[in-house]
Amino acid sequence: MTQVTPDDLKARFGTRAVHAGHIPDPLAGAVMTPIYQTSTYIQDGLGRHKGYEYARTRNPTREVLERNVAALEGGRHGFAFASGLAALDAVLKLLSAGDHVVSGENVYGGTHRQMTHVWTRLGLTFSFVDATDPANIAAAVTPKTRMIYAETPTNPMMQLCDLAAAGETARAANALFVVDNTFATPCFQRPLELGADVVLHSTTKYLNGHSDMVGGLLVVNQDDLAERIGFLQNSAGAVPGPFDCWLALRGAKTLALRMRQHDASGRRIAEWLTKHPKVERVYYPGLPSHPQHDLACRQMKGFGGMISIELGSVERARRFAERTRIFVLAESLGGVESLIGHPASMTHASVPPEMRRAMGLTDSLVRLSVGIEDVEDLLGDLDQALTVAG
Ligand SMILES: *Cc1c(COP(=O)(O)O)cnc(C)c1O
Repeated sequence: MTQVTPDDLKARFGTRAVHAGHIPDPLAGAVMTPIYQTSTYIQDGLGRHKGYEYARTRNPTREVLERNVAALEGGRHGFAFASGLAALDAVLKLLSAGDHVVSGENVYGGTHRQMTHVWTRLGLTFSFVDATDPANIAAAVTPKTRMIYAETPTNPMMQLCDLAAAGETARAANALFVVDNTFATPCFQRPLELGADVVLHSTTKYLNGHSDMVGGLLVVNQDDLAERIGFLQNSAGAVPGPFDCWLALRGAKTLALRMRQHDASGRRIAEWLTKHPKVERVYYPGLPSHPQHDLACRQMKGFGGMISIELGSVERARRFAERTRIFVLAESLGGVESLIGHPASMTHASVPPEMRRAMGLTDSLVRLSVGIEDVEDLLGDLDQALTVAG
C-alpha cells in the first residue's frame, strides 16, 4: 500500500506528473527512479529490515508509480497490477458470492467477458444498463447491490455517464462506485472528485502512452478500502514487474503534454470528419452535436483523441481501415502513434451481436485513436483512405 503525501498533491497537474511520488535515491542520488529488479531484500537481522521483505508485497519502483498516478487522480492510495483486467479482478474480489453489481452495458469487451464468464460462475450477479441515463442505474439497484461500475466515455460509442449522479445513487445504496477512467485520464476527468470510491486504469493505454507495456492501476481515497485492496493485491498477487512499472512511470511524466496534443488533434479531426461526405456519423464528446456535449463540458476538461465514425457499409469500413498508412490497424489505443480499429471484429468481438446492435455498435463502425503526429499528416491520411474506400 502506497500513500500519497500532502507534498505530492500541492503542485499543479503537469508538475505532479513529473514529480509526484518520487523518493530521493539514497545510494547515488539518481534523479530518475531506478528499476529495482529484485525479488527479495537483505535483512539486517531476524525481524529487522528496511520495510521491504519480498517484491510481490513491496517494490520501490512500483510504489513510485502507484504514488504518481494516485496523485494525478487526486487520491491517497494507488495499487499497480499486471494489466487493467487484473485490476478489475482485484476490485471485484472486494465482493462476495451473492452480491450484485450494476454496470454500464457499454463497457470494455474484456471487462464484460470477465464479469459474465468468470464472476457470474463464482456467485456475483450483474445488471447491465444503459448508463447514459442515471435513472437506469438507480432502477437496477437491489437490496443486494454492493457495487456500481461505470466507464465514461465508453468504448467505442463515446457515451457518457453522469459521474456525480451515479455517485449519489451508489452512496444512497451503500454500494462502492468504481469508475474506469482509462479513456479520459486524470488529465481530463477526476472521478474521485465527483463521488467515485475507486478509479480503475488500464495503464497500457494513455497513462503509459507508448504502446510498449501492459498494466493496470487502482486509486482510492479511503484508508479502509486501501487496506482491503492492498491485501488483495498481495494475496492474489497479480503485480506488475519493475521494468513495466518504470516504463509506465516514464510515460506518466509526459501525460499532460501528450493529452494536450491528443485533444487538439482529436477536436480538429472530429470536426473535419463531420464535414466529410463519406462519413455518416461522428461520435466524439467534444462535438456540439454529441447528445451529451453539455455533460462532457461539465465533467471533463478535455475530450482526448478517441473518435468513432459510422461509414454506412461494412465493405467501406473494411477498405478504409485497411488503406490508412499512418493510422496503424491494431487493437489498443492511447499511444503516441495513431491507430485504427474495427470494434465489431476486434475489441468487441466477444460482445454478443444483439448487445452490440442495441448499443449502436454496427459492423460499419470504425474507431480511431488519434496520436500525437502532425495533424495535417493525419488528415491527409484519412482523406486518401476515405477516397480509396469508395
Ligand atoms: C484496455 C482496457 C481495459 C483492459 O486493460 P488491459 O490492460 O488490456 O487488461 C479496461 N478498460 C478499458 C477502457 C480499456 O481500454
